[in-house]
Amino acid sequence: MRKKLLVGNWKMNKTMAEAKSFALAALPLVSYAESKNIDIGVCPTYLSLDIVKKTNPKLIIGAQNVDYHTHGAYTGEIAINMLQEIDIDWALVGHSERRSYYGETNASCNLKVKALLASAITPLYCVGETLAEFEGGLTKSVVERQVREGLKDLTKEDAKKIVLAYEPVWSIGTGKNASQAIAEEVCHFIRTILDDLFAEVSEEIRILYGGSVKPDNVRTYLSSPNIDGALVGGASLQVDSFRALIENIAE
Ligand code: PEP
Repeated sequence: MRKKLLVGNWKMNKTMAEAKSFALAALPLVSYAESKNIDIGVCPTYLSLDIVKKTNPKLIIGAQNVDYHTHGAYTGEIAINMLQEIDIDWALVGHSERRSYYGETNASCNLKVKALLASAITPLYCVGETLAEFEGGLTKSVVERQVREGLKDLTKEDAKKIVLAYEPVWSIGTGKNASQAIAEEVCHFIRTILDDLFAEVSEEIRILYGGSVKPDNVRTYLSSPNIDGALVGGASLQVDSFRALIENIAE
């Protein structure tokens, strides 16, 4: 049985003071979620990682990105050992905004996934098609390439430690959700690729849906057999809404 998971992606929002006040307000949510057998986490900006971790150490804290190089002349980037130094647990890899605005490719995602696994940080690998690809009937071929290339050369032991998120680009921040049927169909499809790649461990790998998830629709997605949780942007920013997401998953 895969444990349910809710991850908030704060994107470029919240000052350190705002992030700290969310982390404080979320202290009771961690024990509530644990009592309901749900993992919860947030991905603040790099600047706020440390303060959120220190304020709420049991919340899963993820970076929104990471570099795969160990150090060197990579202006503006952050290395994995810098995340480790402040006990960061997870990192997003291949979020659609990184892919579309910053040229992230399946190959660079693969390097990041492997570097994170080598450092015992959980990669949350994001895949999903654009609107044009969706309308062109290309969803499965795009997603299959993203999964196979992004997870290339992983062992079964590695695969057990990753989390995937299916986020159709056309539904991120747009209020246009993928229907439950589409989300489940693609997440099921991803699981068949994982079956092919990692055979007996594929059932252990969590797959999230992301794209305009709100407190009033989160439950529908999570009632689908292959959707194990949600990656949430806008609705994770306010602690009341984050709490409502958890409560509605728990019900
Ligand atoms: C996201 O940032 O991954 C996301 C799904 O955003 P939103 O929930 O706002 O669509």
